Amino acid sequence: MCKTKSLADIRATVVQIQNISPDVSIISLECPGIASTAKPGNFVNIKVNDATQPLLRRPFSIHNVRGSLIDIMVKSVGRGTTLFCNTPAGSTVKVLGPLGNHFDLGSEPFLTAVLVSGGIGTAPMLFLEKIVVASGKEVINLTGGRTKDELLTQNLTNCRCATDDGSAGFKGTVVELLRNELPELKKKGAIKIFACGPNPMLKALAHFCHEHQLVCDLSLESVMGCGIGICYGCSVEVKDLNGKAEMILLCKEGPVINSELFAN
Ligand SMILES: Cc1cc2nc3c(=O)[nH]c(=O)nc-3n(C[C@H](O)[C@H](O)[C@H](O)COP(=O)(O)OP(=O)(O)OC[C@H]3O[C@@H](n4cnc5c(N)ncnc54)[C@H](O)[C@@H]3O)c2cc1C
Repeated sequence: MCKTKSLADIRATVVQIQNISPDVSIISLECPGIASTAKPGNFVNIKVNDATQPLLRRPFSIHNVRGSLIDIMVKSVGRGTTLFCNTPAGSTVKVLGPLGNHFDLGSEPFLTAVLVSGGIGTAPMLFLEKIVVASGKEVINLTGGRTKDELLTQNLTNCRCATDDGSAGFKGTVVELLRNELPELKKKGAIKIFACGPNPMLKALAHFCHEHQLVCDLSLESVMGCGIGICYGCSVEVKDLNGKAEMILLCKEGPVINSELFAN
């Protein structure tokens, strides 16, 4: 997977905030430089206010690109995300990006992209879907949430859902949904899985893909500081294909990794 080539730290205007659930908002930022170079899977590191607290920036996937705007889908889980979701339109935030690597759409041939996501891990899927569809391939979304209210399927097409409590779609995890759907999906010819969600979900998916010899890119999460490989705050242990453990910096060597590195 290629590294991103250009890097900007810009002061971006918050153009619009749309609350799509009690704790999730889509925030649109005017960022022409980032919008023109971003690839699906890249993230941005945002200083959510100009105060000294919170000191560190917060990382967010690029949810969508619309002309000169990037959209960020933010779940309010703590101080930084809550401040960001409450930023008034018209004010500015500092945005560093695009950062990290991106989903690999070129190395292996595939006809259908299966986008498997859980919770706020659905954030990067809209941008990914747009680029895959533009390349003439089919997209199927398998989207999971704890309950119907936690599914974040806005604007995605071809969605099949899973909820832990069965309040919508398949009752069970999104990985179990994939197990259910796999015979049908395989009839479509070569498929590739692209996934983002909580790390335990990604671990289960990595095992599943290993077991079924499916090619899969995972976008992992970790607590992150600088976002550019200086602070080492985002070291994550992965295992290489021989099972040997190694540490990678998720901000530079990720967030997207081949699922085989996470299957052990
Ligand atoms: C590459 C990447 C892309 C991301 N994309 C998105 C996105 O598109 N939308 C979105 O809403 N969130 C995304 N996140 C997660 C988001 O960065 C964290 O939720 C945010 O940093 C929490 O900040 P806070 O100040 O609100 O929470 P804090 O008050 O710092 O923490 C609240 C809780 O979240 C935990 N936490 C903090 N940071 C992370 C983290 N990075 N990963 C896992 N747990 C964390 C803390 O341990 C604590 O339990 C992404 C993270 C990474 C690494």
